[in-house]
Amino acid sequence: MKNEFAPRTLHVAAFAQSGGSHMGEERLARFERLMEEARGLGGETWVSYSVGGEIRQDAAGKDEPWLNLKAHTCLALECQRCMGPVDVLVEFDRSFRFVATEDLAAVEDEESEEDVLVLSKTFNLLELIEDELLMAMPLSPMHDACPQPVKMQVADAGFEDLMDEKPNPFAVLQKLKDKGLG
Ligand SMILES: [Zn+2]
Repeated sequence: MKNEFAPRTLHVAAFAQSGGSHMGEERLARFERLMEEARGLGGETWVSYSVGGEIRQDAAGKDEPWLNLKAHTCLALECQRCMGPVDVLVEFDRSFRFVATEDLAAVEDEESEEDVLVLSKTFNLLELIEDELLMAMPLSPMHDACPQPVKMQVADAGFEDLMDEKPNPFAVLQKLKDKGLG
């Protein structure tokens, strides 16, 4: 397909010029740095994103490509109270302006409220999504109420019930004999 959306090699200028938009999903397992934060948990979780491109004119009337990008996912972060995993929704919604060179980006990023990035023909959108999600993570994630420790007595009682339900092997044997199968 000629117009297939390629998030890893996005041609930002063309995408913005055509006023393109796209919604996509990737497994968390594909984001190495996010997986590290989640200590390997939840690789099957989806990272959902939507991106729109547009051309805006700068103060001098010059066309500039922009991306409006938002994404969200759920990360199993380490609770700072009980050290257990706590599911946290992490999301962002930002706009990015693209300029021709690295130098220009550095200068303009200082002066602008929006984020300024360098235009390239093969821009990795997923890397930007990962960068932004990492920055959007809470500094000290915590359960609203940490889970109670497992009560062993309850677990033991359940185990005994299970044993009671298990058929007596001799009774089973007797049944087979009664049917003439023993
Ligand atoms: Zn906790």
